[in-house]
Amino acid sequence: MTRHFNFCAGPAALPTAVLERARDEMLDYRGHGLSVMEMSHRSAEYVAIAEKAEADLRELLAIPANYRVLFTQGGATQQFAAVPFNLLGSGGTANFVDTGIWSRKAIAESRHLFGDARVAASSEASGNTRVPQQGEIELSHDASYLHVTANETIGGLAFDYTPRGVRPDGVEVPLVCDMSSSILSGPLDVSRYGVIYAGAQKNIGPAGLVVVIVRDDLLERARPDMPTLFGYKTLAEGGSMVNTPATYSWYLAGLVFEWLRHDIGGLPAMEAINARKAAKLYAAIDGSELYSNPIAPANRSRMNVPFVLADERLDKPFLAEAEQAGLLNLKGHRSVGGMRASLYNAVPEAAVDALIDFMADFENRKG
Ligand code: PMP
Repeated sequence: MTRHFNFCAGPAALPTAVLERARDEMLDYRGHGLSVMEMSHRSAEYVAIAEKAEADLRELLAIPANYRVLFTQGGATQQFAAVPFNLLGSGGTANFVDTGIWSRKAIAESRHLFGDARVAASSEASGNTRVPQQGEIELSHDASYLHVTANETIGGLAFDYTPRGVRPDGVEVPLVCDMSSSILSGPLDVSRYGVIYAGAQKNIGPAGLVVVIVRDDLLERARPDMPTLFGYKTLAEGGSMVNTPATYSWYLAGLVFEWLRHDIGGLPAMEAINARKAAKLYAAIDGSELYSNPIAPANRSRMNVPFVLADERLDKPFLAEAEQAGLLNLKGHRSVGGMRASLYNAVPEAAVDALIDFMADFENRKG
């Protein structure tokens, strides 16, 4: 058995220790005589798994008591719709910072459903190479919340500060953040946010699960015409078990949270490792003649590192040789081309070292 180094943007690498534990518990979960996949979500065994996962996530992110944690489904894409349904009940307009492809999808869905959505700031003029500064964010008079994408998974562009959504009348509105590709990469001040949501398939666990962290008072702002399962209040009151949840993904997420707490030593330790991994790879790119990354240094993503080769004709051999060397999924997103190395929590430092060695060797031979 060989596990290659996997740089996929998502579904992404999972910690080997987590997969081994899941394997060991697969057929007979801790003496219960069945797999977690086969359990009723209402059983005492499963409820214990679900509660432990939430408790560990709360501990990792130091989530304040006035926030609810929801384990739901439909991908982060469903949250593009669920957020306006949940927050526009008392009127007003959704405001957005546009930093690239994922923010634009959120904006498009909000417009599709409710017609109006304001782009309060955009990185488009910079070619999405820098995140708008706080002073550039101009909310509408009727803004009801500000939505940002913490980390643009395709563009490799990340916020280096926590923005505030302040209307022209001085009122601060809740900050809503798509953290799909950066949650758990380091510590977070949850109290700065109204809603945080993240698809699981990067730093949380397998696909099929979405984590939503929502401040209590925002549960009262929902539109009445909302699909039942979109409702944060409904999900919170039902313990995220209004219908059958993604039980196995939730269990796996719990194992990842335990791994972060006990094997890694918490999010400050995880952040230090992630900072080191990203710094090395960007240094290798900047120091080469063949590879380049255009993002302003302060806004370079630690999770997704896109880069292009100076000669496009080398793309195919680069990818083929990388794969032969056991370095998987380095192809950039189909919409932008080039390469992308995703360095999520479960991608070990040794993977980054191997990638850097491969890139240097390739450049020496072909560059
Ligand atoms: N937002 C971001 C930042 C993402 O990276 C992704 C997926 N790559 C999505 C939203 C959409 O997630 P999903 O496929 O879970 O709907």
